[in-house]
Amino acid sequence: MKILLIGPQGAGKGTQAQRLARATGARHVATGDLVRAEIKAGTPLGRTIKDYNDRGELVPDDIIVSMVMERMKGAGCWILDGFPRTRAQAQALDAALGAAGCEIDAAVAFEAPDDVLVERLSGRRTSEVTGVIYHLTGNPPPADDPGPFVQRDDDKPANIQHRLAIYHRETEPLKDYYARQDKLLRVDALQPIDTVTGTILRALENQGDQTVPTELPQTRDRYAAAS
Ligand code: AMP
Repeated sequence: MKILLIGPQGAGKGTQAQRLARATGARHVATGDLVRAEIKAGTPLGRTIKDYNDRGELVPDDIIVSMVMERMKGAGCWILDGFPRTRAQAQALDAALGAAGCEIDAAVAFEAPDDVLVERLSGRRTSEVTGVIYHLTGNPPPADDPGPFVQRDDDKPANIQHRLAIYHRETEPLKDYYARQDKLLRVDALQPIDTVTGTILRALENQGDQTVPTELPQTRDRYAAAS
C-alpha cells in the first residue's frame, strides 16, 4: 500500500492513518509529528522550523520534502499523513517515486465543512502526563487522567482560521492534481471512524472502481474522527 492522505486539520487524517497502518502494516509517516519531534529535540533544524509550526504556517517545501524522504527510506508500504500540502511537494514526491519506478495507489481526500473543523480543533487538548488527545466536549478526559491539559499553539482560534485558509489555498488544489492522475478517492470525513476506515480499505481493494460512497449517515458523529 502506498497512499497519501489529503485533508484539512481536524478531518481525522491522523486517526485514520494509524488505523490503516495497523490494518495493513504500512509505515505511517505523519509530517506534523516529524516537525513536532524535531522541535522537541531542539535540533538546529527544529529551531529553524519552530516558528512556522507555532504560527500554523507551512514549513518550506525543500525542508519538509527532505524530512519525508528520509523517513520513507526502506519502507515498501507507507501512508503519508499531511504530505504533500503544496503542488511543489506533490511534484517532488512524483519525481522521487518515478525515479524509484513506483507510484502511489491512491490519494485519499478527507472532506468536512470548516465550521465543524473549527469546533473540533478549538476543543482539542493534550494531556501533558499521558500524551493522550481529548476533546473538551466530544471526548472529555477521564477521571484517571489528572492532566494538566494543554492546547497546541496552532489550535488557538486565530491560528485555526489561518491554517484552514492555507489548506484551501495551497493544499485543496491537489485534489485536482490527483484526480487528473486518476488517483483521487474522496471520503466524507464526518462519517463514524469505522465507516471511514472501511470505506478506504474497500476502495483500495477495488482499485478498478475508484468511486467511494459519499452519502452521509443519518446521525453524524461530529467528533468521531477528530485528530
Ligand atoms: P499538522 O500536525 O499536520 O497540522 O502539522 C503541524 C505543522 O507542521 C504545520 O502547521 C506545518 O507548520 C508543519 N507541516 C506539516 N506537514 C507539512 C507539509 N507537508 N508542508 C509544510 N509544512 C508542514
